[in-house]
Formats: sequence, C-alpha cells, structure tokens
Amino acid sequence: NLHERMPVSEIPEWNQLGNSFNLMASSLENVEQRRRELIGDMTHELRTPLTVIRGYLEELASGSIEPSSELYLRLVKETRRLERLIHDLQELSQVEAGYLSISVQPISLVPLLKSLVEKFADQIMDDGPIIKLDYSSDLPPVLADSDRTEQILVNLLGNAIRYTEKGTITVQAWRNRHRVWIAVTDTGIGIKPEDLPFVFERFWRADKSRSSYSGGTGIGLAITRRLVELQGGTIEVESEVGKGSIFRFFLPVA
Ligand code: ADP
Repeated sequence: NLHERMPVSEIPEWNQLGNSFNLMASSLENVEQRRRELIGDMTHELRTPLTVIRGYLEELASGSIEPSSELYLRLVKETRRLERLIHDLQELSQVEAGYLSISVQPISLVPLLKSLVEKFADQIMDDGPIIKLDYSSDLPPVLADSDRTEQILVNLLGNAIRYTEKGTITVQAWRNRHRVWIAVTDTGIGIKPEDLPFVFERFWRADKSRSSYSGGTGIGLAITRRLVELQGGTIEVESEVGKGSIFRFFLPVA
C-alpha cells in the first residue's frame, strides 16, 4: 500500500481530513472563546449593582448611615437593575448559544405595529415625544416569527423613547421588492459617528453613567440584531448627534 510508505503530510486525503479537523477545532475554539468572553462580561456587569448594594448594606449595618426611605428606594432601584440584567442575560445567552427557536410563518405586520404603537403611546409621559405610525397601503405579509418581531420592535421603540426627550418617534413600514423594511426613527440625542459601529455589540453603551442611570444594560441591541438575522434579515443604523437616530431592518416578503 502506497500510503503506508508515504509521510502522512503527502497523502492528499489525509491533508484534507486534517484541514477539516483544523477547521472544526478552530470553530470550537471560537465558541469557547465567545463563551469565556460572555461570562467575563456578564460577571463584570453583575458585579456593579451588587457592589453598590453591599456598600449601602454595610454602612447601614455599621450605623454610619441612617435608614431612610430614600436609601431603601436606591436599594430597590439597584435590585431592579440586577433583575433586568439577569433577564437580559438569559435572553442573550439563549440567542448566542443558538438555543432560541424561531418559527417563521406569513404574518401581517400592520396589526402588530398598530398595537405596539398604541401600547407605547400610553406609556409616554405627557411632556414626552409623540409616536406616529406610517405604512404603505399595499404592505404584503412577511415571513417572520411574530413574537420575535414584536421583541425587536419593543427593543427599538423602548430605546427611541429612552433616548428622546421630546419630538417625534416614527415607525414606518414599506416594501422594496422581496423585502419589507421597518424603520424606527427618533428625534433624540443621537449617536456619535465613532460610536455607531459598536451599538450592536453586547454591553456597549455610549455613555455608561448616563445609560446606567436610564436603566440601560447595553444588551438590547445585541439581542435585536441576532433576532433580525435569525429571521433572514439585517439591521442598520444612521444617526446624528442632537438630531436623532434611525434604526432600519428588513424581513423577507412571504
Ligand atoms: P441599552 O439597554 O443601554 O439601551 P442597547 O443595546 O439597547 O442597550 O443600546 C446600546 C447603546 O446604544 C445605548 O446604551 C445607547 O448609548 C445607544 N442607543 C441605542 N438606541 C439609541 C437611540 N435610539 N438613540 C440614541 N442612542 C441609542
């Protein structure tokens, strides 16, 4: 047998096999690397509110601060933040591990958009932004998972409201060939050009102190992008500081 006398590296089939093993090993390393990074990031994010809570509790225990309702409210706020983080992290780890089940079927967007816009309009304070819906009359059904699509829109609308003091938030939907585009536009604080490439990265926040004050976790857009991609779409953003932002994604026409 020729192969027995040949060095392994000179056997073409063997080389091919070796290449696929290398590929497999390197993609496993990637998964492992991502898992390690995720755990590292998660630990870091969870530690911050816990440190604040422990600090207050220790000061209370030693008597260096007096209990007050304001203090308890601060503790409640940090605990809520922890809860939100844990909830978001659970979703993030599901999408990143590929455990999320997506079942696409033809859905009609207009009722979904209408009910979401109404729900959010009810939540906005009187002096907050107004919210508008604008869609073309011939909007075809899309091939999508209705729950996941709702989740995408909830994330985008939540951000638009959070980062817009006053002005208008517009939800638009229109058809372009085999795609239905959905855009959420706001007249809020906007995002700096140098920050734009990072907005879909997990745990990324433009201004950590401001976002943690507004309750942001920096996870929403990472999940949003994965949910759009799992349904065969893509998402993009355009923004100008002081003018506002537009987040746009498409879903395939059914
Ligand atoms: P967060 O929970 O902090 O809002 P996201 O992943 O949803 O996390 O968003 C990441 C960051 O992108 C936010 O912290 C904010 O800095 C920026 N951002 C997202 N949406 C908007 C928007 N509509 N206007 C301005 N900045 C935004």
